[in-house]
Amino acid sequence: MDAVTVIGGIAVGLLVGVWAGRLTLRHDVRKLVAQERRTAEGLEKRARVSADAKQVRDQILGSMQDGVLLFDGGWRTAFANKALERHLGARPEALPQVYPPSLRETIRRAAETERLEVAEIETGTPTRWLRVTATPAGTDGSVLVVIADITEARHLDVVRRDFVANASHELKTPAASIQAAAETLLHVWQEDPEAVPRFAEQLEREAVRLSRIVADLLDLSRLESGSELQDDVHIDALVREESSRFEEAAIEAGLTMHVEVARVPAVRGSGRDLSLLVRNLLDNAIRYTSAYGRVVASVTADNGSVVLRVSDTGTGIPSKELSRVFERFYRVDRARSRETGGTGLGLAIVRHVAENHGGTVKVESELGKGSTFEVRLPSSIPEGTEPVDP
Ligand code: ADP
Repeated sequence: MDAVTVIGGIAVGLLVGVWAGRLTLRHDVRKLVAQERRTAEGLEKRARVSADAKQVRDQILGSMQDGVLLFDGGWRTAFANKALERHLGARPEALPQVYPPSLRETIRRAAETERLEVAEIETGTPTRWLRVTATPAGTDGSVLVVIADITEARHLDVVRRDFVANASHELKTPAASIQAAAETLLHVWQEDPEAVPRFAEQLEREAVRLSRIVADLLDLSRLESGSELQDDVHIDALVREESSRFEEAAIEAGLTMHVEVARVPAVRGSGRDLSLLVRNLLDNAIRYTSAYGRVVASVTADNGSVVLRVSDTGTGIPSKELSRVFERFYRVDRARSRETGGTGLGLAIVRHVAENHGGTVKVESELGKGSTFEVRLPSSIPEGTEPVDP
């Protein structure tokens, strides 16, 4: 091999070496870039995941009905959701001093004792009740506070307790009268036989009263769970039917009763409950109207609704009592209600039936002149498409 060939071989070798070296370098750089890209993508993905998680967390906490507040060990607000602002009327950046003292006290106790603290606090005007749950959230004195507005629940509790107290009282009165009449009967039936019918009548009267109250209470409790809206009810026919049942009572009371019904579309609802509604309104109109008075029951169609009006020329209702007559056991004239066999539940039943059918009830009245109760019920079939023979 000559020198030229050797040098050529070396040169080729060198060139191949350089080329191979370049190739390796390029390969390494590419690998590095790919690795970097992967790292960047990974970081980006993680950032995205963490941003998504934060967004989800904020969405969850933001849509919560309960207020959530995180206090750090230095009494600084680390987090507060929207509901907290609603419950306490304070912005998230508010200083702890703006919170009610009883709330601060609960948080302080949780931080100090490192134990869960629960308290019900009263705040604001009008008064609202809040249930505060303060949970220690670390060893640095951080406390997580969850605040629920329990005003409505408290109110319902008061209503329930009042109702039970009222119902017990209403039932106790006739029950006591029945007991007294029965005891007296036991003594007089031999010694004073002539007095027997008087006490027997008292016994019957009070027993009837007792069963009326129980029947109304059962109706009311059934209506509180809603009405079964399964029938196509023709209110005009129903008012005619119910009015005819009261004819005798109206004559006995010395009243004239008129029924004015137009052709109206049907109402989707419960025939049984709507009869109850009509019966209660007619019964009241007759009971609270003196002799020579007048009761009118009318049914008309108005803009997709069926409107029932029961008017009387009776005692009327003082304007300040108008908003309360639909409450359970509320009576304007307790003596007259009792005397005429009222239970104090009739209008509460009327309101429930109307509302269960998506309707409304209202009253207009003038003391000494009379009252008009108006019930509006949505008709199930558009006006004019289903004529009903009156
Ligand atoms: P009650 O069984 O006592 O009649 P209701 O719930 O039917 O109970 O009515 C509540 C109160 O509303 C009655 O006690 C009465 O004071 C008043 N009221 C109801 N209807 C009439 C009416 N047509 N005229 C005058 N007052 C009425």
